[in-house]
Amino acid sequence: MLIDTHCHLDFPAFDSDRDLVIQRAINAGISYFINIGATLESSIASCELAQSNPAVYASVGVHPHDADGFDSRAGDKLKELAKRNKVTAIGETGLDYYRNLSSQENQKQAFTRQIKLAKELNLPLVIHCRQAEKEAMQILKAAMPVQAVVHCFSGDENFLKSCLDCGFFISYTCNITYKKAQNLRDMLKLTPLDKLMLETDAPYLSPEGFRGKRNEPLQIKLLAEVASRIKGVSFGELADKTTQNAKGFFGLK
Ligand SMILES: [Zn+2]
Repeated sequence: MLIDTHCHLDFPAFDSDRDLVIQRAINAGISYFINIGATLESSIASCELAQSNPAVYASVGVHPHDADGFDSRAGDKLKELAKRNKVTAIGETGLDYYRNLSSQENQKQAFTRQIKLAKELNLPLVIHCRQAEKEAMQILKAAMPVQAVVHCFSGDENFLKSCLDCGFFISYTCNITYKKAQNLRDMLKLTPLDKLMLETDAPYLSPEGFRGKRNEPLQIKLLAEVASRIKGVSFGELADKTTQNAKGFFGLK
């Protein structure tokens, strides 16, 4: 059994065959999907997808790319969504100083607000952090205790250590299969099994051999195979541990 802890099945890339994509993954042994909101609209779509699919759960949040529009009205709307059935987390939220599509000030404000909401509703956080490790850690440390997973981990060993010190989970995507991603494989090696989760971030980040194509939750299986080799454990052990971690973190049965 495997879980895709971070995918975007509501995106237009899946409009023509969403049900087939989900069924294909289920047939391959993926039992749950956490569909991650990136805007208010996609958070609503995530909730709807979770309502119509027994295997799909939702996370609701506003991505740092969209932090510029995240005013107090949007914050209220997000809070309302977060109370819906099958909502298991707040996010993705965080800081992205690589693309800076929203101002850094607004990103920090939106992140802080969503951390506050997660704590208020006792939900874990799904964190997106790119080239803003120091700033993100400052904000998170000031808000501790916080339950979080750092999605699509891309930081260095120092950041990994700080995240583990805070008790955060670390999630890796299919980009660990890329030839130039030795740094990510090194970080995965250093991540304890009991803090590890797997995700596709589909439709993004197709594995090596499929690059340029749409990614699908089905590829969690390939990711788990690669990750088990890197960790030096059996596929079964890696699948069991990461599934157990995801179930506990997102409160799945
Ligand atoms: Zn994502």
